[in-house]
Amino acid sequence: MNMYPYSSYRDISFVDRFFKHESVQSRISQFTSDKLFRTRQTGKSVQGREINCISVGNGKMKILVWSQMHGDEPTGTMAIFDLLNFFKADDDQNDLRNMILHNCTLHFIPMLNPDGAELYQRRNAQGIDINRDFLAKQAPETLLLLNIQEEIHPDFGFNLHDQSTLWSVSGSRKPAAISLLAPPVDNKGTITPARQKAIQVVTSVYNMLQDYIPGQIGRWNEEYEPRAVGETFQRSGISTILIEAGGFSGDHEKQYLRELNFKVLLHSFKQIAANVCGNDDISIYQNIPLNNKELFHLLIRNCRVSTPGGHIQADIGLNYTEEPDAAGKSMKKVYSVADFGDLSTWNAYEIIDAGNAALKHPVIIDARATFNIMNERGFVLSFADGVKQTFKQGI
Ligand SMILES: [Zn+2]
Repeated sequence: MNMYPYSSYRDISFVDRFFKHESVQSRISQFTSDKLFRTRQTGKSVQGREINCISVGNGKMKILVWSQMHGDEPTGTMAIFDLLNFFKADDDQNDLRNMILHNCTLHFIPMLNPDGAELYQRRNAQGIDINRDFLAKQAPETLLLLNIQEEIHPDFGFNLHDQSTLWSVSGSRKPAAISLLAPPVDNKGTITPARQKAIQVVTSVYNMLQDYIPGQIGRWNEEYEPRAVGETFQRSGISTILIEAGGFSGDHEKQYLRELNFKVLLHSFKQIAANVCGNDDISIYQNIPLNNKELFHLLIRNCRVSTPGGHIQADIGLNYTEEPDAAGKSMKKVYSVADFGDLSTWNAYEIIDAGNAALKHPVIIDARATFNIMNERGFVLSFADGVKQTFKQGI
């Protein structure tokens, strides 16, 4: 089933996670010349990079979408440009796009934290986490988003993030590809009218995603965080939805997750435009399985380990962080040991069965992986200072 012919809208300027502000500006300039869109500079980052808002549609329902307030969370930015391409197109989806543009006015702010994106880091150039700055309001990027919100008074807000690829979905133990939340307004879980509408959108998105990623849709932590933008907007009566793109096996550059983000947003706009976000039962939302952590990047099962108490069998769970290579062009994976012992209840993106091969060198939790696993024919697997060596079975 393909509800929307996505491939014709995919913005081909973006092919991986590491694009910078310059690429975003270049794409924005393409839309500036199109009369359908209204583009304006809304402010600048700490280091003086322009942050723009692109608006489309003339409807009563106002929707504000922003992405990449954390500089190393770029999936939503790519999806925003795919959506702009969708609205620009003239094809057999005209009924849908006209219905949305007639009923809604959409405002998009791609890459709210361009200084962070430049370094592929979470925080802005002041070292501030923008999503913890909505009480103190110290970062110019925070003030910019608040100013736009005060100016346009959105009915709905979409807060686009990327979560750790190590989140799994409770129950399925699969990677949480997309996690959703209607952020709370207090620590009692009160359902205000604004939050009720956000919950209806999340419920509808959750049902839609079942066709694409069953078992891989999570509900983000419901804990109240008063300093975050989602809670702040929800408190002020804007129906706010958090969308977190996580991990999906084989989608290292998040290109499938970007497509899912596009589908999530377009589906949401369609629901809002058709005014189907009512006062339905919230039990589906409450039953969306929570994010949890039962997932490694790599799990090595069944190693034979020599201990003072004799031989034991153990599994090794490893996670990687990404470090830029010397040229700063690509990232290498540096593995650390996260856990050791019986990890039979855990899942992983990659599972290697060591087949009772012997572990050489003790594994040290939280340290960069440095060990060998050998069978009688030679190395099965080898790590040096966190870097996985070539698989050399049978030497
Ligand atoms: Zn984030």
